[in-house]
This record gives sequence, structure tokens and C-alpha cells, in this order.
Amino acid sequence: MNPRPTIAAYGTVDGQLVIGGMTLERLATRVGSTPFFAYDRGLLTTRVEQLRSAIPAPIHLSYAVKANPMPAVVQHLAGLVDSMDVASTGEMATVLDTVMPAGRVSFAGPGKTEAEIEMAVAAGVTIVMESVTEAERIMKTAERLGICPAVAVRVNPDFHVKGSGMRMGGGPQQFGIDVEQVPDVLARLVAAEVNVVGFHVFAGSQNLDAEVLGEAQRRTVDLILALAGRLPTPIRYVNLGGGFGIPYFERDIPLDLNAVGTNLADLMADRIVPNLPEARVVIELGRYIVGECGIYVTRVVDRKRSRGRDYLVVDGGMHHQLAASGNLGQVIRRNYPMAVGNRMNEATDGTVTVVGRLCTPLDLLGDQVELPNAGIGDLIVLFQAGAYGLTASPTAFLGHPRPAEVLV
Ligand SMILES: *Cc1c(COP(=O)(O)O)cnc(C)c1O
Repeated sequence: MNPRPTIAAYGTVDGQLVIGGMTLERLATRVGSTPFFAYDRGLLTTRVEQLRSAIPAPIHLSYAVKANPMPAVVQHLAGLVDSMDVASTGEMATVLDTVMPAGRVSFAGPGKTEAEIEMAVAAGVTIVMESVTEAERIMKTAERLGICPAVAVRVNPDFHVKGSGMRMGGGPQQFGIDVEQVPDVLARLVAAEVNVVGFHVFAGSQNLDAEVLGEAQRRTVDLILALAGRLPTPIRYVNLGGGFGIPYFERDIPLDLNAVGTNLADLMADRIVPNLPEARVVIELGRYIVGECGIYVTRVVDRKRSRGRDYLVVDGGMHHQLAASGNLGQVIRRNYPMAVGNRMNEATDGTVTVVGRLCTPLDLLGDQVELPNAGIGDLIVLFQAGAYGLTASPTAFLGHPRPAEVLV
């Protein structure tokens, strides 16, 4: 496990983990039930400050809402980042309730229906076009409503990024328009007087290698520069994607954010500012902003021993925090960082397997984890739960109640 930096970010008092200035047991009482997710406002603020100090100031920082769409989290981040990216009209509604101006909101994601495009056009957000069909729907809707929407073309590049946890660009993809098809699509959009503001490339998620990210950004800029001449107006929007990863497992080395920042500064100075002086350049991050700022808290309801192995059965599970069970895109299951949140000053006492209450062996939160001696009533904390937690989990499975979420 690699819990040290993760746990240190929270601190402890009298053996209790502290989050948002409150000890865990007291917070559990305040919430009124377990399991629950808690997100730390102070850590979110610090995280954005760290990004701001590493990434060159002209580059805009966008929050990808799907990583954590809790309205309170989105409200808090709306005051900290420059823009937001949404992937559904539900997320769009959450963002439009904040101080974020619609002109700083982009709407990406495949399969946008005519009804969704109509809502986006009326809202005045930038529509990130993912297919030729969407191009037709956008043109039709714009004409019907008499509104000229800002449109960015999402390009599926002809390269892919090594080492991304999830690849979302390169090769055949459901995302974006293949770069070789883009010139034809642009010609049609230009002929129809669509307001094409620029391009979006998002090549992959969860990357911990600054050099690989830098290379992807460089190639993205080259690709956009090659397309720039096909627009009648200067490019006003360049979304370089993101994909910054966070450490989940023992041997994961945290991303070198300063190296990422240096690469971006070079890219701005050498390629972007001279060639695309009017472009608003955007880095779009979900996981990196929220992932390390949240925990999932679940209480032990049973302890049992089976043929030499000790089990803790908790009141939560994969239906709330699917990623920790290893069933959200992991090839080899490994344990997320975990602690007994009310026994933080106790030494580990052997290994224990932490499971949920769903009737499936997939409901495994920690496989033979070294933890202090814990029993019924103790609070198990899973770290790195701020991104792709509750909303990326099959909450309806087995019909247990939905957990609370709090921002503290
Ligand atoms: C999911 C997504 C993101 C966020 O990815 P992270 O790995 O969480 O930073 C950004 N942009 C687009 C288009 C996405 O679909």
C-alpha cells in the first residue's frame, strides 16, 4: 500500500482520522448513518492552488464534472477553476446553477440527442462535436432556434498515449471524429456558417508519467496546428485534454506536476502563442482535482474467520465504491489505500480481508490488507474516493440504501 501521503493529508487526533476539521466518529454521528462519502473542501482548494502554481497562468483549468458531480463539490470548484466540462444535460444543469458562466462550459460525450443539443444551444454552452450526425443535429437545431452556438470539434488523434489507465483516443474510437475525416467535416461546417471555435483532443485517463503526457500534448498541438488553416477564423479554443493520474497502489509514483507544467510552458512559448495567439488553451481534469480529496467510510458489521483467513464484513461495498473492488477497469485487482479510521495510532496486527454485504465474491474492498485489529463497530476508511466513486458504482444492486455524501 501507499497510504502515507494520502493519510497524512488528513491528519489524526486521538487515533481518529480528521476530515474537514472533525474527527471521523463525530462526523459519522453528524451524518447519522454509515456508509458515507466525505469530501474535504480545504483539500480541494489546495489541490487547485497546486495546479495553478505548476501550470502556466494563461492556460485555463477546466473541471470535468463527471469525476464528481455532487452539487456542493461543483459549487465549490466553480469558484476556483476557469471552466467546466459536462458530459450530460444533468451535469450541465448542476453547473448552470453555479457562478460559472455558460460561455465557460463545454458539453462533450458521444451520442448527444437532438433534445440534448437543443438544451445546450439554448444554454449557450460550447458543444463538443463527437460525430458527423451530431454536426447535422447541431446545424439543424441552430437554425430552428435562431441561435449560433459555439462548436468545438473533438478529434480522435492518429496516435495513442502509452500508460493511460483508460485509452480514449487513437485507433478506432466511439469518441470524436477521426483526424483524417476532420477536413471534410470542417468544410461542411464552414459552408453552413457554423461557429467552429476550435478543437478538443482527450487521449486517455489516469496517466502518471509526465513525459508521456508532455509528448501527447505536443502531438495534440501539432495536430491542431495542421487543422488550423482549414477554418476561416482564428482558432479561439484549444482543449488539450488532461488525463493526469493519481497514485492508487503501492508502487504508483505520483505524477511530477512541475515537469508537466514545464512541458506546457515550453509548448505555449514555442508553438501555441506564436501560431494561435487568440486561442483560449484549456487543460481538462477530473480525477486529479477531486480523486485524492475524498474518502469512503463504512462500518464493520461482522468479523469472522474462515479456514485461517480473517474477514471484516462492512455495511458498504462495491455498489458504492466499485473502483476499490477492482471492477472498474482494473486488469489485476489491487487494494486501494485503506485504514481503520478510529484506530489510526494502532500498529497493524496481521491481515484481514474486507468485504461488503452483496451476495457476490466481487464485493471485495480489501484483499488480505494489513490493518490494526478491528472489529464490529469500527470505521473502515477507503482513500482516493473523491473521483469516480458513488456515481460510477451500481448503487441499485441488491437494493441497499444510497449512502450520504458530505462536503466538509
Ligand atoms: C472523463 C473525461 C475527462 C476527465 O478525465 P480524468 O481522467 O478524470 O481527468 C476529461 N475530458 C473528457 C472529455 C472526459 O470524457
